[in-house]
Amino acid sequence: MTKHESQPIVRMQKLNKHFGSLHVLKNIDLEVVPGEVVVIIGASGSGKSTLIRCINGLEEFQDGHIVVDGHSLVPHGKSAKALQRIRTEVGMVFQQFNLFPHLSVRDNITLAPLKVRGLERAQATQSAERLLDRVGIRDQADKYPSQLSGGQQQRVALARALAMEPRLMLFDEPTSALDPEMIGEVLDAMRELAREGMTMIIVTHEMGFAREVADRVIYIHQGEIAEEAPPERIFDDPQDERTRGFLARVL
Ligand code: ADP
Ligand code: MG
Repeated sequence: MTKHESQPIVRMQKLNKHFGSLHVLKNIDLEVVPGEVVVIIGASGSGKSTLIRCINGLEEFQDGHIVVDGHSLVPHGKSAKALQRIRTEVGMVFQQFNLFPHLSVRDNITLAPLKVRGLERAQATQSAERLLDRVGIRDQADKYPSQLSGGQQQRVALARALAMEPRLMLFDEPTSALDPEMIGEVLDAMRELAREGMTMIIVTHEMGFAREVADRVIYIHQGEIAEEAPPERIFDDPQDERTRGFLARVL
């Protein structure tokens, strides 16, 4: 089955979100199909983080509807059961790595599989080693987060999310807190994941990476989807004046 024949794994319909008097997301419609890589770009404060945080229930919304892998989220956070399911199926990597400082790299990765998925320790450990190998830091398993570089910590965070065998991965500016020389190693790990067919929604300012890895790029302007298109089209021939203005500032 090709990507475009599949049922969406995320379907967001007429989503509206307010923070007090601030209307931060306006009538967002978004569908993502399995295997698709969607990159979200936009100025600081335009609502990118809020949008992806709504998908795994880190933010409530006031109006609209989100279905994630068949689980339905409704306004005002009244979806406890769906949320529980969604959080085990959706992995997230943030700008700040959010590792547990008192746990070794290995224990950071095995914690959720042991507690939430009920894996046996031997199995969880084996899987953690495999994941560390996959993100290129197999030899760091016994270290603590503070002993690793930022790029290594972010790859641990990625391995930790993957340990739950997510159906969908969300990334919120995963390289924005990294020193420039470490950005490449994290993008490489994400590129590899995309190549393996993971469904991904990525907020990033790395336009070169977006162009290369995205099936579709969404430009958000003040809480609205101003334009969405394949990367060649967004970057080489943007149709919306607001997209053109943004790209002129960042490229
Ligand atoms: P982006 O990720 O595109 O920079 P955000 O989604 O973080 O944007 O924020 C969108 C808008 O919502 C900004 O104006 C921000 O200040 C505001 N905002 C974000 N989180 C909160 C919050 N918890 N309470 C109030 N306002 C918020
Ligand atoms: Mg943000």
